[in-house]
Amino acid sequence: MAAKQYVYRFGPDEHGVDCTEGGADDAWCLGGKGANLAEMARMGLPVPAGFTITCQTCVSYSEQGVWPAGSLDEIQAAITDLERRSQKRLGNPENPLLVSVRSGAPISMPGMMDTVLNVGLNPETVAGLATLTNNLRFAWDSYRRFIQMFSNVVLGIPLNLFEDALADAREQAGVASDAELKTEQLQALVVRYLEIFDQAISYQTRAYLETQTGSASFPTSATDQVLLAIQAVFASWDNERARLYRKQYNISDALGTAVNVQAMVFGNRGMHSATGVAFTRNPATGIHEPYGDYLINAQGEDVVAGIRNTCSISNLKNVPELAKPARELYQTLDVLEQHYRDMCDIEFTIECKKLWMLQTRIGKRSAQAALKIAVDMVQEGILTREEAILRLEPQQLDQVLHPHFDPSHQIAALAYGLNASPGAAVGEIVFSSDDAVARVKAGYKTILVRPETNPDDFCGMSVAEGILTSHGGKTSHAAVIARGMGTPCVCGAEALHIDIDNKLIRVAGTSIELHEGDVISIDGNSGAVVQGPLPLIESTMTPELIEVLRWADEIRLSPPSGKPAHVRANADTPADGALALKFGAEAIGLCRTEHMFLGERKEIIQTFIVNDSPHAQAQALKQLLAVQTDDFYHMLKIMNGRPVVIRLIDPPLHEFVDDPRMLALQLAALEGEGGHSEEIAAMQTRLRRIDSLSEVNPMLGLRGVRLSFVYPDLAHMQVRAIVEATARLVQEGFDPKPEIMIPLVSLLSEHVHMRRVIEELIATIEQQRGISLDIPIGTMIELPRACFIAGDIARYADFFCFGTNDLTQTSFGFSRDDAEGKFIPLYLQQGLMDTNPFEHIDEVVLNLVEMAHEQGIDVNPHIHTGVCGEHGGDPASIVQFFNEAQLDYVSCSPYRVPVARLAAAQAVLQRAGTFTAEKS
Ligand code: PEP
Ligand code: MG
Repeated sequence: MAAKQYVYRFGPDEHGVDCTEGGADDAWCLGGKGANLAEMARMGLPVPAGFTITCQTCVSYSEQGVWPAGSLDEIQAAITDLERRSQKRLGNPENPLLVSVRSGAPISMPGMMDTVLNVGLNPETVAGLATLTNNLRFAWDSYRRFIQMFSNVVLGIPLNLFEDALADAREQAGVASDAELKTEQLQALVVRYLEIFDQAISYQTRAYLETQTGSASFPTSATDQVLLAIQAVFASWDNERARLYRKQYNISDALGTAVNVQAMVFGNRGMHSATGVAFTRNPATGIHEPYGDYLINAQGEDVVAGIRNTCSISNLKNVPELAKPARELYQTLDVLEQHYRDMCDIEFTIECKKLWMLQTRIGKRSAQAALKIAVDMVQEGILTREEAILRLEPQQLDQVLHPHFDPSHQIAALAYGLNASPGAAVGEIVFSSDDAVARVKAGYKTILVRPETNPDDFCGMSVAEGILTSHGGKTSHAAVIARGMGTPCVCGAEALHIDIDNKLIRVAGTSIELHEGDVISIDGNSGAVVQGPLPLIESTMTPELIEVLRWADEIRLSPPSGKPAHVRANADTPADGALALKFGAEAIGLCRTEHMFLGERKEIIQTFIVNDSPHAQAQALKQLLAVQTDDFYHMLKIMNGRPVVIRLIDPPLHEFVDDPRMLALQLAALEGEGGHSEEIAAMQTRLRRIDSLSEVNPMLGLRGVRLSFVYPDLAHMQVRAIVEATARLVQEGFDPKPEIMIPLVSLLSEHVHMRRVIEELIATIEQQRGISLDIPIGTMIELPRACFIAGDIARYADFFCFGTNDLTQTSFGFSRDDAEGKFIPLYLQQGLMDTNPFEHIDEVVLNLVEMAHEQGIDVNPHIHTGVCGEHGGDPASIVQFFNEAQLDYVSCSPYRVPVARLAAAQAVLQRAGTFTAEKS
């Protein structure tokens, strides 16, 4: 493409011959919508003529505040060209050209930016349109829509002023829907709308209008209208919800939006006309059938806004007037899917039985649908397994692994709506986006309840557990956004009368009323809305997920090049171990033994820590040995034949004792009440002891391997428990595979000494039992110093496991807990950091891992290496660990294991360059 071309045309010329300039590959320049309109036009699909103003024009206009040199001339020329191609003229009462002005960023941001339809209408052209179409009502319906949309989008006048006037008009006319309003009523509404414009327009906007058009009245020049609408769409790139959406989905602010100016086609020209949204496959379930909604005698915004209840696309063929365009629509859906080799979503309009395509893009889908579509498309021969694996978003698998309601539990639903986004949610009712944000901040779970949502609700939608609406179909705003975010959503639950002003829901046919703060449960799989909290149960692995992960395992374990990419789990209890196995973990990469001291065992470890009596301590150790041996026995048994990396005690001991502040309060109370002096003395001793344990800096104090030197009995007890449990299992005929890991090493001597102690203990028990055991001993590399001496440590280590949580904390000098909710969000917002280093591995920390790994391998080629920090469950970090640091495995929480298996396969495919260029 030419470097400085601002405008590209698409669609037919005046002879019906395609004169499109761009194509599907030009999304960075033409935006997704513009690129795909161009592609559809090239494919010979019926696309109304138009042109696209590039994203780069938007960027330049936004930066400079003026049109880039030459761009305005190009736009004027494109308008003239469009007039010639469509044989109509902007503002010409005899034969008026009306256009839509629509946003379209390179990466889809549904509903976040603005669109203006019916641009070009004024008192003269509305009359011309009526004559030309022989449909006075349609012309005035379009005119009132235009004033409403233009006033809101371009001039910033609140939409509800117009909606209230429209509701008044319906009430006065005694009709239920806008479609029933008569011409005279629409004409009166236009007068009312222009009054609203006059009363509600701000002083600044009036001044802006004057500088742009020479008049402060509602713009009547069609060309002025078009230019103002284009500028408004540019500005909408920077509105708050668009910025928030980009942040949420990691989309660069520097991309800008393209603007598509296109000849209008009308779905509101009577009962032979319709408009709708469709998917080539069901985006909630993945079932291969056309899916979507339409409305007869309506314009596109009516469908997505959710203000009218829509009909299912599968019924369109049964409407006698629309049977032919319906057939064409279904064929077009097939053509598009074959062409893009993916599930597509489209917007279409039927004007007087003629089908027009207004948009297509790769359709957003639930995780369940993504998996089914991947499996089906491989079976249908559309995709290879590798392509299907690369297309899936590992992060999205979380949705399938979402909890759901127990199907055997009898539920008495208050109402059923549409099952718009899968998963189940429980929370208290909030009626506004702001309330959702406030309650979630205060620590509550919420369900956002709205008659329908619009883009202004985005903040509340993104924090709520679930979303419930009483209006709108499965392609309404609420449904599309919820699916994208993986938030359970039930929409169109019409039996619920939602009174936003009084924060009240009335359930039709009953006397039930629900108020703000009442708890409800919603099921995005069945559409049920239930009063009160329902118990949530764990998810199961669906057949499609199992199949996709089977392919992923084949790929990652037998890679075309490089090492296999293994996935382990972090699991501390036999129950976690079972879960890890269920999700496909190959081994346990980290068993944090300190978690075994919690619950009812806390008292035992407390006795060991705070009691000065050697006898009481010895008793406590004995009890701990018994329970730990039992824990390891069950853990190793459940993981029979698979490695279990057991880490010796790591956290500072004060984590196991009471909060000294609480204890001080209790002591003061006891003293105040004149309690027993013995009791008081015991409590004082306890408090002194706990105070002496408190770490000034818990991240760097007496913890990790250092504990094993200061409290050697504790480490000995743990090693003994591991070895005893192993010996017992071996004697019972099992195949236990424990590996002992020494945490937080910073000196070579720490590791060497601990290794010797462990080896001696193993040897003693081997001798006592008369068996021989093979228990590898390794270290956790989680301090920068350890990375620098990794070569030395490797001489005495069978494995390295990188603790990237501590490595990140110690490299940055701040801790995960300090950072959360404090400065990291601020840094991200201010651009001081691109990503949260505790979620996605930081480059410098990754360099430390790479360096330590290289040194380790150099000295000890047999050393086995992995990562067990939180980053081991982050798909992007996983790819880096395997492909840049060359580690053998990642280890993550059981629920992340499927995500990690998929990401590991993607790493292997990317490493091997197994990208098959996608045909488009
Ligand atoms: C780590 O530091 O990365 C790690 C896994 O250990 P923990 O989170 O228990 O400190
Ligand atoms: Mg650690």
